[in-house]
Amino acid sequence: MRNSRSAGDPGSCNDVGMMTADDVRAELDALLARRTAETRLTTMGAGSDDLDDGRAYLAATVEGGWHVPHWPSVHGGRDADPNEAGEIATALRDYLVPDLYPFAIGLGMVGPALLAHGTDEQKSQWLRPIAAGSEIWCQMFSEPEAGSDLANVGLRAVRDGDEWVLTGQKTWTSRAMWADWGICLARTDPEQPKHKGLTMFCVLMDQPGVDVRPLGQMNGDTHFSEVFVSEARIGDAWRVGDVGEGWRVAMTVLAHERAGGGSRGGGDGGSKKARTPNWIADLRPTGALDRPVDRNAIVGVHVLDMIGRWTAQRAADAARGGTPSPAGSGAKLRTVASYKGRAFTTNRAVGADGMLSDGHGYIETITAPSMSIRGGTDEIQRNILGERVLGLPGEPRLDRDVAWNESRRGLV
Ligand SMILES: Cc1cc2nc3c(=O)[nH]c(=O)nc-3n(C[C@H](O)[C@H](O)[C@H](O)COP(=O)(O)OP(=O)(O)OC[C@H]3O[C@@H](n4cnc5c(N)ncnc54)[C@H](O)[C@@H]3O)c2cc1C
Repeated sequence: MRNSRSAGDPGSCNDVGMMTADDVRAELDALLARRTAETRLTTMGAGSDDLDDGRAYLAATVEGGWHVPHWPSVHGGRDADPNEAGEIATALRDYLVPDLYPFAIGLGMVGPALLAHGTDEQKSQWLRPIAAGSEIWCQMFSEPEAGSDLANVGLRAVRDGDEWVLTGQKTWTSRAMWADWGICLARTDPEQPKHKGLTMFCVLMDQPGVDVRPLGQMNGDTHFSEVFVSEARIGDAWRVGDVGEGWRVAMTVLAHERAGGGSRGGGDGGSKKARTPNWIADLRPTGALDRPVDRNAIVGVHVLDMIGRWTAQRAADAARGGTPSPAGSGAKLRTVASYKGRAFTTNRAVGADGMLSDGHGYIETITAPSMSIRGGTDEIQRNILGERVLGLPGEPRLDRDVAWNESRRGLV
């Protein structure tokens, strides 16, 4: 990491419109080191859970608004339009951007949801610490009885004057053990049908009544947790959106997650000017690029990868427009396919070394199956596309118009 710009630098905001791609790179050169052919990015969980690189990168880039250029400059962005933001994202792939996994929910999901649904006070309180990497967020949606059927969330929030009292259990809460804040979907009115009685809150993770218990994963990580919430009190100022509008806010969060907002964000793709994308260049020492069968498979995955990126970009632009659309489901299926393709192609290329826990591509290979589950399973994305894009008949949803507490009693 190089020197960071000062907070008062007048050139730090609103000027990318006049900047060429070379200007952008000149600015980034002052902040970040470039990738070289020898650079291999570290991956969280592969030997280290060190948060420092990510924090240092975000602290260095926040003054210029480089990492979230489309956010307002006052909140850690630089008011960039989609073209400018795309240009910057492309340029960043040439630099040593660390694995931002711990920060991804704040940067890619909570931040955009707050921009769409938060009050001015909430934006001022939370967005800049997210952009600066000083506060980490987690997503408290799933519960033992609410995964694919997310609207079945049962964690209760009961109003008590200006406060809410939260009680219940979340599970699979990624990054919870690092998180300062959680965005938490809770049931405020059990008498309403399941989608209607939900409200979104922000929860301080180290407050009394919030107990985070990490779970082991098959890739060796302990990156997600069960979170037990027992009469945790939060002020009404930490409610996002209106009471009963939690599903709408949740859909915004999920639209951004499916468009890639929850992904790791490292500079691993290679710029469009680079002749060989970085992940393929990393395979050169294995000899795979000279073996016709491997080479064919690699190019196939590269094509999938590029289509996945463009689809995700299109879905992210649509989600930024404020109306969650099924585009996120198509994007998620494609990015899962390209992630798996890259992982499995890399694994095949490196051979037996890929079975070693510190082997090239090991962590990606053993993480790959989870990509089809997190953020909504492949089956659920296909259901959404079938119903909302192809117009196929919907699934029977017998409990849609029934009070949530009645449906829990087994009436449907
Ligand atoms: C690595 C990882 C990280 C995660 N991080 C988070 C997080 O940070 N925050 C959070 O809130 N959640 C998180 N999750 C949870 C994730 O969103 C859920 O696991 C997912 O939505 C599936 O829910 P479930 O596990 O309850 O499975 P279930 O909903 O019980 O599904 C089981 C199986 O049934 C299938 N199925 C269910 N319903 C249907 C249907 N209607 N049609 C067709 N098939 C169906 C599913 O596709 C799946 O194969 C994470 C999960 C993983 C694996």
